[in-house]
Amino acid sequence: MAQKIIFEEYFEEATLRFDYHHAGTDTTEVIYPEEYSKEKYWSGSKKHLISPFDYGKYKVVVKDAKTKTIIYSNGYSTLFMEWQTTPEAKKIRKSYYESVNVPFPKNKIILEINSIDKSQKWTNIYSEEIDPANYFIKNENAFTYKVEEIQVNNSPNKALDILFLPEGYTENEMDKFIADVTRLKSSLFKVKPFNEFKNSINIRAVLAPSKESGTDIPGEGIWKKTALNTNFYTFDSERYLTTKDIKSIKDIAGVSYYDQIYILVNTDKYGGGAIYNFYNLCTSDNEFTEEVFSHEFGHGLAWLADEYYYDDDMSSFYDTTLEPREENITTLVNFDKKWKNKLPKKLEFPTKASPKNLTKIGVYEGGGYTSKGVYRAFQECKMKSNSTKEYCEVCEETIVKVLEYYSE
Ligand SMILES: [Zn+2]
Repeated sequence: MAQKIIFEEYFEEATLRFDYHHAGTDTTEVIYPEEYSKEKYWSGSKKHLISPFDYGKYKVVVKDAKTKTIIYSNGYSTLFMEWQTTPEAKKIRKSYYESVNVPFPKNKIILEINSIDKSQKWTNIYSEEIDPANYFIKNENAFTYKVEEIQVNNSPNKALDILFLPEGYTENEMDKFIADVTRLKSSLFKVKPFNEFKNSINIRAVLAPSKESGTDIPGEGIWKKTALNTNFYTFDSERYLTTKDIKSIKDIAGVSYYDQIYILVNTDKYGGGAIYNFYNLCTSDNEFTEEVFSHEFGHGLAWLADEYYYDDDMSSFYDTTLEPREENITTLVNFDKKWKNKLPKKLEFPTKASPKNLTKIGVYEGGGYTSKGVYRAFQECKMKSNSTKEYCEVCEETIVKVLEYYSE
């Protein structure tokens, strides 16, 4: 058992933000530090300082410099790691801006970043001793934007704090932004398990206008001057909406408490994206906006895998000789860690997708982009398709665990 870490012994209620460049190729990665800054708020749990979850490709670990005790850890993923899977990464080197938050230390710490590789082996890729008294730790407020409290039900340390950032909303469209956030809030609380955790979820919105309305659509030659520099066509996939401008995101988000950043992009085009403990994005006015909103949040909040698949395969994404680390898919390599104990005694294997089995837990082949060798627990789930209004039981339970972690 890990020893209990008392927040007040090691940290003050503020954030140490570490900005860095993550560079490399498909098989190499290096971290180049950019800067440290002190931010006003700490919204994470003060009880669970060491993450109980084995989620995300990276892990930030904080150790007390004197005793080497681990006093904080958290998992996350990044856009850089997705770029590493593209053909381009085999040919050229690229650098992505990234940033992690940890509680602000009272004494010297060692900050480490660890990365897990395809064979599921962890490697330390960065380590630095940081003295909180170092006067080069930036301590300035980049922005003074107004923060609108959409719903604040609990103290930030005992709630999941979702912060909405507007993208491509002009000064004159701030009322529309608030109306859009309010609509998405209502849609979130129609979905299990979020409806059961209403009192442990805070929702705020930063009124940070853009010069122009909309977002970049490179494939159509459309470019807009916006606050967070989002674009469609990420890795040349039209509907994949992301941004590399992490600095702007973090500078704006720093005016508020937040555990999860949700970027709402002012367009009716279909698309979105989310990266675990990094950011979530969806568009405001598409007919599937509400569905995309909760699907993407499954990735960003709980590291759920996509349960959809293509018949023409992408079988290289998950190595079927290893158990995927996401909770909602399995290769059966270590099925004991997944939903095996929930299965009925007599089970058709693999379970046939049929109207008769529509609500039955099983082992359905297809998931994680591939139709062979990767299995999911239910025929339908929000992580599989936009036409489904609910998360499957496995996804729902994963989200419950994450919501409990934030709310204690
Ligand atoms: Zn699911």
